[in-house]
Amino acid sequence: MMDKLQQERLVVAIAAQTAAEVMLEQTIDYVKSREAFGKSISQFQNTQFKIAEMATEVEMGRAFLDQLIAEHMDGQNVVTKVSMAKWKLTDIAKKIATECMQLHGGYGYMEEYEIARRFRDIQVSSIYAGTNEIMKTIIAKNLGL
Ligand SMILES: Cc1cc2nc3c(=O)[nH]c(=O)nc-3n(C[C@H](O)[C@H](O)[C@H](O)COP(=O)(O)OP(=O)(O)OC[C@H]3O[C@@H](n4cnc5c(N)ncnc54)[C@H](O)[C@@H]3O)c2cc1C
Repeated sequence: MMDKLQQERLVVAIAAQTAAEVMLEQTIDYVKSREAFGKSISQFQNTQFKIAEMATEVEMGRAFLDQLIAEHMDGQNVVTKVSMAKWKLTDIAKKIATECMQLHGGYGYMEEYEIARRFRDIQVSSIYAGTNEIMKTIIAKNLGL
């Protein structure tokens, strides 16, 4: 049972990574199309910095996750790393949901815009499949603490 739980955590990490990538993609499209004060909001430096920060986190998350999937498929014990991926990638996805909603402005709060639902739904990712706090207790234990 404990061995199999690492697969559940891996699936949640993959879902969080994918959600972060989709939210970023949708937000890049949105900021290019929305105009305020006579120009596209993608031209504001704050928007560019936020997008750049999120793109960096998404790339780093993808690299870690790809390596983890390869190790898991190779039959290695990935309990510690999968616990790291589960808490960190769901944490990043929640932060990205918040930033993306902010960049959508008022529309981000409206059900008509997908980011509203994604913002709400991503919250559970740090709760189920073992809470993120429990992931950290596993990591600490496996580090000999
Ligand atoms: C949508 C959804 C689907 C689910 N699907 C399933 C499923 O298919 N199968 C299944 O078995 N379960 C499922 N769950 C249950 C889920 O795994 C639990 O909700 C989760 O493990 C947290 O348990 P709890 O809700 O009792 O919260 P609690 O254990 O009461 O935790 C509340 C808070 O206290 C913290 N906490 C608790 N213990 C510690 C500790 N020792 N150290 C530090 N912090 C601690 C938690 O991290 C959390 O922040 C699902 C939950 C949801 C919301």
